[in-house]
Amino acid sequence: MTTGEVHRLAREHGLRFPPDPGAAEQSQIGGNIACNAGGPHAFKYGVTGRWVTGLEAVVPPGEVITIGGPIRKDVASYDLRSLLIGSEGTLGIVTAAWLRLVPAPELELPVAAFYAGVGEAVAAIERVLATGVVPAAIEYFDGTTLRFAGGSFPGGVPAEAGFMVIVEADGAAEEARRAQRELLEALREEALSLHAPERPGEVAEVWRWRGGIAFALLAQKGGAIGEDVAVPLDRLAEIAEETLAIGARHDLVALSFGHAGDGNIHSNFLFSPDDPAELERVEAACEEIYELAVRLRGSVSGEHGVGCLKRGALERQLDPVTLELHRGVKRLFDPKGLLNPGKKV
Ligand SMILES: Cc1cc2nc3c(=O)[nH]c(=O)nc-3n(C[C@H](O)[C@H](O)[C@H](O)COP(=O)(O)OP(=O)(O)OC[C@H]3O[C@@H](n4cnc5c(N)ncnc54)[C@H](O)[C@@H]3O)c2cc1C
Repeated sequence: MTTGEVHRLAREHGLRFPPDPGAAEQSQIGGNIACNAGGPHAFKYGVTGRWVTGLEAVVPPGEVITIGGPIRKDVASYDLRSLLIGSEGTLGIVTAAWLRLVPAPELELPVAAFYAGVGEAVAAIERVLATGVVPAAIEYFDGTTLRFAGGSFPGGVPAEAGFMVIVEADGAAEEARRAQRELLEALREEALSLHAPERPGEVAEVWRWRGGIAFALLAQKGGAIGEDVAVPLDRLAEIAEETLAIGARHDLVALSFGHAGDGNIHSNFLFSPDDPAELERVEAACEEIYELAVRLRGSVSGEHGVGCLKRGALERQLDPVTLELHRGVKRLFDPKGLLNPGKKV
């Protein structure tokens, strides 16, 4: 079942399944659980694992196990549910899940704010956080992202914009409107312009645009590697600026955008698929991004996982003892190494 299908089923009953990974129409709920996927609204609602109360899985050599269920609390056992969530299919295959749903918010009110540069934008995000209002999402887009994808942004992008921040207020109508007023106040200072749609169709357009960014970037040269490191929130400006510096050092088109509120950054490097030398430079640039994330006390992956592409990156992040514990867990579940061999650990 695709994530989009879960969303639609929930909506038909006035409910919401909050995790909203970008590729919702392609990804499966099992894949979301396997990767513990996030999305723009993870800032307020958290990632997929927070909404899974139980799992059915098949573990080697072919046994069906059930962990948790339709219950809110369970501390009787070791937390194998959390261990399987985000294990990228290396410990077991998820065959069913109990998902927690919430009443859908009455109103969703995004505000897009444009700034001249990263300094002004990060200051605005800090003011937003200081309001005490918890936005549903806090997203950012650097100047190069706006140059490639801004043409289709509903409401237009000011010519001098070097950075955009999108925050969203949601909840019961009155509560969402009050929160939006506070967010607008926090974002206004130093903003070049603000775009605050209210009609549901216009609101949906903003998120549809957000969902299309990866494809707009891919269209530039035919290839793009989008990393997903996560760093402490106060290092956001550093990683946005360093992404450009790393790209320049490797003679690559570089840009970044992502889930600013979670410090989860998509550093992107573009390449032509028919230029193997350029792809090699992209791989070298990605290695530098992992190194930077670890140096900033972050993670090599905030939402996509390690898979094959980031093979070896986990070794940068974990100390040898923790790494060996990971390998021990893998051996315990899957002694013959049959499940997704070579992925993650
Ligand atoms: C345009 C685009 C936007 C994206 N945006 C986001 C985003 O906002 N947030 C985010 O977190 N990710 C995002 N992603 C990455 C990806 O779509 C998600 O991480 C998604 O959760 C992966 O699910 P899938 O069904 O596509 O899994 P797949 O890609 O098919 O599989 C991913 C891994 O999980 C394993 N797996 C799949 N199903 C199961 C199962 N049932 N049991 C055990 N293991 C399984 C696979 O073997 C594989 O190792 C995006 C990807 C694209 C292309």
